Amino acid sequence: MIDIASPLRLRLDSAALLHNWRWLAKAGGAEAGAAIKADGYGLGAREVMRRLAAAGCRFFFVANWVEAAALMPLPAGVSLSVLHGVGDGDMIAALTLPVRPVLVSIEQIARWRAIGSGRACDVMIDTGMNRLGLRVEEARGGALDGLAVETLLSHLASADEESPQTERQLEAFAAIRDAIPARRYSLANSAGICLGSDYGFDLTRPGLALYGGVPRAEAAGQIRQVVSPEARVLQMRTVPAGETVGYGATWAAPRDCPVAVANMGYADGYLRCHAEAGGARWQGQALPLIGRVSMDLVAFDASAAPGLAEGDWLTIDYELPTTAARSGLSQYELLTGLGSRFERYWV
Ligand SMILES: *Cc1c(COP(=O)(O)O)cnc(C)c1O
Repeated sequence: MIDIASPLRLRLDSAALLHNWRWLAKAGGAEAGAAIKADGYGLGAREVMRRLAAAGCRFFFVANWVEAAALMPLPAGVSLSVLHGVGDGDMIAALTLPVRPVLVSIEQIARWRAIGSGRACDVMIDTGMNRLGLRVEEARGGALDGLAVETLLSHLASADEESPQTERQLEAFAAIRDAIPARRYSLANSAGICLGSDYGFDLTRPGLALYGGVPRAEAAGQIRQVVSPEARVLQMRTVPAGETVGYGATWAAPRDCPVAVANMGYADGYLRCHAEAGGARWQGQALPLIGRVSMDLVAFDASAAPGLAEGDWLTIDYELPTTAARSGLSQYELLTGLGSRFERYWV
C-alpha cells in the first residue's frame, strides 16, 4: 500500500483528556462515565474509550447500535450503553452485543420484556425535557416492575443556563430514586456536574467537558483544551497592495502582504462563519484569517510570520469557548463537525 500523508490533522491531547475526566469525577462527587457518541464528539470513540478505560473509567454511552458495534471488542471491565434504546430493528444487535440498551419508552420496555426480559438494561426517565424517556407517572405506575435495571438515568435540559427547571428536575429525579429500584442512578452531564455533588448521584455522564468544552463558568480555568486542528501550508504568495483574496473578493491587501494558503475548508467542518474572526498560529505568531473560507482552502495573513514556508503546519485557533462565542456555533457543533479528512493523532 502507498503511504500518503494527510495534509490536515487533529492533534489530540491525551493528558488533557484524562485531566478533564478526573476533574469532572471530583467536581461531580460521583464516579464519572463518558459520553462517546458521535464518534467521541469527533475525536474518535475507540481511542477515547481506550484511554479513559485505562485510567479507570467504566461506563460509556453511545447513541445507537451502529456506534456500539464499531467499538467491539470492548476493553476489559467496561460497560457500554446505547442511549436511544431498542427499536424494532435493533433487537438482534441488542441480544448479540455485550451492550445494554437504555430503554426510553413503554414500547421499548414491552419489546425488551418480550425477548430480553431477564437481561440487564438501563432506563431513561424524562424529568421535564420531553425528549427521550418514560414519563415519571409511567415509571411510578409499575412500568418497570420486574426489570433488572442497572442504571436509571435522566437528562438535564437547561443545566448550562440559570434556570429553575434544573432544580425541578433534580427534585423529580431524587423522588424517582426513592421509588424505583436500580443498581445505580445517573443524572448529570458536563454542565450538571458543575452544579456540584447534589447532582452527582452514583454516576455522571460528561461528554463536552471531557473534550475541552466549558459548559459553565465553574469549569473555566479547570478544563483543558484537547483538540487542535492543524493544516498545512500549500502555497505562500505575496498579494500586492489593493488586490483581493478569495471568493467574493471580500478582503483587500492594505499593503503588499504575505499570504499563506492552507489545506482546510468548510468541507472539513471549518465553516464560513470563522471568516469574521478566525485565525491560526505558527511558532507563537498569530495569523489572522483573510477572505472567505473555501471548500478545501483557507487563507491567512502571514505578515507576523516571515519564516513561514510551504509545507509548514499551522495550528488553527480552536479554543472551544472563545471560538464558539465569536463564531456563533456551539462548542458541541465545533467538535462534532470536524470532518473525516483530518487525521486524528494523539500526543
Ligand atoms: C450527550 C449526552 C450526555 C453528555 O452531555 P454533555 O453535555 O456533552 O456533557 C449525557 N447524557 C445523555 C443522555 C446524553 O445524550
